[in-house]
Amino acid sequence: MELYQRSLTDLRDLFQSGEATSLLIVETCLDRIKRHNDALNAFIEVFAEEAVLEAKRWDERRERGEDLPPLAGIPIAVKDVILVKGKRTTAGSNILRDYVAPYDATVIKRLKDAGAIIIGKTNLDEFAMGSSTETSAFGPTRNPWNLEKVSGGSSGGSAAAVASGMVPAALGTDTGGSVRQPAALCGVVGLKPTYGRNSRFGVVAYASSFDQVGVFAHSVDDVVLVQGVIQGRDPRDATSLEADTVISELMSDEVKGLKIGIPKEYFVEGMDEHIKTLVNEAAEVWKNGGAEVVEVSLPHAEYALAAYYLIVMSEASSNLARYDGVRYGHRAEADALDELYKKTRGEGFGTEVKRRIIMGTFALSAGYYDAYYKKALQVRAKIREDFDRAFQKVDLILTPTSPSVAWDLGEKFNDPLTMYLSDIYTISLNMAGVPGMSIPVGFAHGLPVGAQLIAKPLDEYEIYKAAKYYEEHTHWHKQMPPLG
Ligand code: GLN
Repeated sequence: MELYQRSLTDLRDLFQSGEATSLLIVETCLDRIKRHNDALNAFIEVFAEEAVLEAKRWDERRERGEDLPPLAGIPIAVKDVILVKGKRTTAGSNILRDYVAPYDATVIKRLKDAGAIIIGKTNLDEFAMGSSTETSAFGPTRNPWNLEKVSGGSSGGSAAAVASGMVPAALGTDTGGSVRQPAALCGVVGLKPTYGRNSRFGVVAYASSFDQVGVFAHSVDDVVLVQGVIQGRDPRDATSLEADTVISELMSDEVKGLKIGIPKEYFVEGMDEHIKTLVNEAAEVWKNGGAEVVEVSLPHAEYALAAYYLIVMSEASSNLARYDGVRYGHRAEADALDELYKKTRGEGFGTEVKRRIIMGTFALSAGYYDAYYKKALQVRAKIREDFDRAFQKVDLILTPTSPSVAWDLGEKFNDPLTMYLSDIYTISLNMAGVPGMSIPVGFAHGLPVGAQLIAKPLDEYEIYKAAKYYEEHTHWHKQMPPLG
């Protein structure tokens, strides 16, 4: 097995035991990036020189017999919406093309404290608004399994970087599915934790009551290792939770007695039959281990998509008001203040971002607020109740992650409604704040398929255990794209 095919936990063990240097690991990643980034466009920027220097420092510390933190010497990529001090943070937008972050996001600080080497910033849909990484001002990220296909989005760069072996793990953000859906489309594991588990301090805001940092990697253990490092209360983010920060090793592979619910509303007519079959086959794996699989109902699921887009656009219209040409990023040439705003935003934002700001502003305007925004908040409450009720009956809920496999580049680009529909299975979790993980469960039409495991708030451990059991009894998470 080549080094780039190794999991994060393997690489950690190889480094800590002295079988591989951090320099070798970092150079392997840089070599993969060099070979494949032109085709994939997964990275917006790579910090090659600094990564090599840091790797050498970790090698020296190891040689001196110093204590090594859990991610010592391991390269990790970061979606370019998370601030890394002294580095550009573009959010995939022209308006922030030259913006240099003055501080580290809390999750970055924690990664660095744990010894991780931030190797580069990955591509994304502009301001994380999209499902295909095509709205990026830096061009689309391609799917490593088929270069004519999208990588999913909005964290497509992080998903493609991990899938192609450029890096063993990456951070993304998930507002409505942006970690889980690209993870599914690229064939890797992707976690969106409970809202509040991870600090949002230093993460470019899209829709603040939904945004969560999440993790991509090749296995559940790898995801748990990174998530264990970044999570926990942060005084700088009032919504971050005072929750157990320690995740012990995943010991138990028992799923006996576990109750898994499959929502009847999620297997709608018109969904890809192959995906349906693969998710049902996955359920069989847990059943064979003694889990019980039952039907549950999430009756308000059909309203989730409309309410989600209404609320996120409203929050976005408010959050993005800060890009005015005065405080951050791009500033247009103008003689008057109004003109400055207009020109800066006109030049700086792409079409999808403008569409969302306009729709969000409309939804929040006097006279429409009650009819749209307030109504959508009521739907949000109903969706939360649906999950509460379902979790009185079951420990976990199983669904497909995406209704389709990766589609052709350009296919949905000019049809926003069809694009929005690709989030149908992921957005409800952000509406309710519950955690979810996408795991690879097979292939359809030659492309990876993901299944989503959902738990009660702060019950990630249930997901980890079930996902780990699945990995121990299948081989899908070990598949990597051939990539020539
Ligand atoms: N595709 C969804 C959207 O555009 C989700 C994006 C995300 O999770 N950042 O809003």
